[in-house]
Amino acid sequence: MSRAWNFSAGPAAIPEAVLRRAQSELLDWNGGGASVMELSHRGKAFMELAARAEQDLRDLMGIPDGYRVLFLQGGATQHFAQIPMNLAAEGASADYVVTGHWGEKAVREASPYVTARVAASSADGGYVDVPPRASWDLNPAASYVHITTNETIHGIEMRDIPDVGNVPLVADMSSDILSAPIDVSRFGLIYAGAQKNIGPSGLVIMIVRDDLLARPGRPMAKIFRYAEHAANDSMLNTPNTWGWYLAGLTFQWLKEQGGVVAMGERNRIKAQKLYDAIDGSDGYYSAPVAVPARSRMNVRFGIHDSALDALFVQESADAGLMALKGHKALGGLRASLYNAVPEEAVDALIAFMQDFRRRH
Ligand SMILES: *Cc1c(COP(=O)(O)O)cnc(C)c1O
Repeated sequence: MSRAWNFSAGPAAIPEAVLRRAQSELLDWNGGGASVMELSHRGKAFMELAARAEQDLRDLMGIPDGYRVLFLQGGATQHFAQIPMNLAAEGASADYVVTGHWGEKAVREASPYVTARVAASSADGGYVDVPPRASWDLNPAASYVHITTNETIHGIEMRDIPDVGNVPLVADMSSDILSAPIDVSRFGLIYAGAQKNIGPSGLVIMIVRDDLLARPGRPMAKIFRYAEHAANDSMLNTPNTWGWYLAGLTFQWLKEQGGVVAMGERNRIKAQKLYDAIDGSDGYYSAPVAVPARSRMNVRFGIHDSALDALFVQESADAGLMALKGHKALGGLRASLYNAVPEEAVDALIAFMQDFRRRH
């Protein structure tokens, strides 16, 4: 058996140490004679696991009092719709800053539940930059301002947390949560699907300020209401226990690595190395995103002759470098460098790129 260097955008690489631990505990977790998947979520053992995972995430991100952490089923897409259901009253308006595919989708899915106003967008330039904060047309009466801190497909990162006044800032951090330190207190709500930087798909981590949980939102079934999930410690119904467990193992691993400060520095170095290799290739490779907006997590690049893309994908896969094909909507190539992707993987990719260039 050999594991490839995995550059998948999502579901993505999970730290090998986490997978090995899960493997060793698969048949008998915690001496209970069953795997964690086979236990009641209401039992003492699982409740302790759940509480520890939350505490570890709070420690890692420095989540202040006054915020709840929810471990929800589903994906980020579901919350594109559920966020306005919870945060916006009937007839209300919310602002969206759109810097790529996921922001566009967030607007579309929110539209049945709120007047989703695009306050700024970089669509006109083909999503290669973040519109400058001064150009955002924000409505001070908006229910919230929604941003996507990292656009996974377009490879665009919003590095500075924007000042949006007293309107709560809502952020889709699916592909950059835990990749570097952030100031949680600047946000009203943060949400992230787990399958990029945390663990398996089917789990969403949400960090939400108490005053937003208290908003009445719209009439809806309990199962959609975040306040109900919070009141029931994310066990309003059966949670994704396996996902919660793996997320908890990843949080422990992150602590052992030195937390988000250490990860942020590693991620900066990994991305810098790869962008330097692209920029230093005399135009053989190129990266379309404006330098200040280049994502550390998803490096989008291309070959001067796109007819070589398919060959690059094939040969890199043969060399043990998997999932470098760009998103089908954009073509080209993409290397995702999440926390679980070590610097050696980036070194292997750069060596392959140089060899490919020599040969083609
Ligand atoms: C992957 C991704 C999503 C969608 O996640 P699903 O789990 O498929 O719903 C949304 N936003 C961002 C930024 C993503 O990377």
